[in-house]
Amino acid sequence: MSAYEIVIGLEVHVQLSTQTKIFCGCSTDFGNEPNSQTCPVCLGLPGALPVLNREVVESAIKTGLATHCKIAPRSIFARKNYFYPDLPKGYQISQFELPICEHGYLDIDTEKGGAKRVGLTRIHMEEDAGKLVHGEGVDSSSSFVDLNRACTPLLEVVSEPDMRNSEEAIAYLKKLHQIVVYLGVSDGNMEQGSFRCDANVSVRPVGQKEFGTRTELKNLNSFRFIKQAIEYEAQRQIDLIEDGGTVVQETRLFDPDAGESRSMRGKEEAHDYRYFPDPDLVPLVVNEEWVGQVRDNLPELPEAKIHRYTEKLGLSAYDAEVLSADRATAEFFDACLGLLPNAKLCANWVSGDLAGKLNEEGTSIADSPVTPELLTGMFKRIQDNTISGKIAKTVFEEMWTSGKAADTIIEEKGLEQVSDTGAIEPIIDELITNNAAQVEQFRAGKEKVLGFFVGQVMKATQGKANPGMVNQLLRKKLSE
Ligand code: ADP
Ligand code: MG
Ligand code: ZN
Repeated sequence: MSAYEIVIGLEVHVQLSTQTKIFCGCSTDFGNEPNSQTCPVCLGLPGALPVLNREVVESAIKTGLATHCKIAPRSIFARKNYFYPDLPKGYQISQFELPICEHGYLDIDTEKGGAKRVGLTRIHMEEDAGKLVHGEGVDSSSSFVDLNRACTPLLEVVSEPDMRNSEEAIAYLKKLHQIVVYLGVSDGNMEQGSFRCDANVSVRPVGQKEFGTRTELKNLNSFRFIKQAIEYEAQRQIDLIEDGGTVVQETRLFDPDAGESRSMRGKEEAHDYRYFPDPDLVPLVVNEEWVGQVRDNLPELPEAKIHRYTEKLGLSAYDAEVLSADRATAEFFDACLGLLPNAKLCANWVSGDLAGKLNEEGTSIADSPVTPELLTGMFKRIQDNTISGKIAKTVFEEMWTSGKAADTIIEEKGLEQVSDTGAIEPIIDELITNNAAQVEQFRAGKEKVLGFFVGQVMKATQGKANPGMVNQLLRKKLSE
């Protein structure tokens, strides 16, 4: 048992997937020719004036509502002043004293089971900086500035220092990630930096009220690194204190290869940035009506889906979680359910055979050649006993490659289940005549032999015999 408690607060930068930048009309496309997506505004040329992108505000309101924040009726853009070659204006336009969203929360599932509420301090809008490219192209000893990313829109989501271990931090981040992707405000691509995290970590003796001094770990962009970084940093601080040292407030960089962090710079304070309201941008007014419209158009979020799937549809918590994990899967499932209200059957296929096939073929569910219409067309034939669950797998495979309807496939391939006793009885009679030894064993009480007979009937009918009927007939005839 450790004598220390870890305290974690997270700042997440979410890159929004708007078509254009936050203060100009340049494209936000990723990976193009350096500086091909720039204009006087995002190059920071003197006299160029920023114009706020309405879509960015909508994204912020959506995210704020989905995380239970209050949406400010009036918020202010501020200049955060610092020098860096990728920041041509010499300041970043951000929000400081009056951000657009405040006082929210997320409920996370803890390792021990049960939920925990993590406070969300604020969400504000800001522009991203450009990118430095070191030692590429004509001169490997030079650095280059690419301003395509300059002025792309970000949301910064700041949590309260409410998390107490790395698992809680990851649960919080995964939940936030799922929400922004569900909302469609971000693609959430962590490798491309669309969702990146600064982790603030401190430790304190168990029972102490005051927080310890925090350090900030910058720009972590994978869940695994974040977990490693937090655990390493907490241990480093504990060791330091145990050795009689003190933690200094600073910004540190985690090196995933070395598995350790190192100091990057002393932590700057807000006043170092000389924040002041940006005189080029008027205060942003968001009225009740606008918030109401955005609220009315929010998609059903994972939490609500899980609740509906378990409470209304009677699915297991596990199934509900798998089906709601991403929005496209949940919408596919909901579409199936709308066509055929058999939740268990739809759930089994969507999270089972369909998910397996999509995975195998590397296809996303949005591009699935088997649509909800096709799939539920097949379910109807399972329900009315035209085909068995086993034959359904054959129909599904055929449906995947040909895109034909289940009825067509069943007809063309003659896959209809044989439920006609007149067709099955003669097969059973013949088996009984030819397998006297097995018949004896069954009569002597060896139940397992029944499986042998079922198998033989299925073989003789190419799997098309109605399994329930086969079992029933076999029992009757074997006992006669
Ligand atoms: P800054 O811009 O200086 O990093 P912010 O207010 O944007 O300040 O973010 C501070 C973050 O640090 C928040 O997520 C907050 O929860 C967290 N935090 C503050 N104090 C502590 C502490 N003692 N230990 C851990 N995290 C902390
Ligand atoms: Mg910070
Ligand atoms: Zn521009």
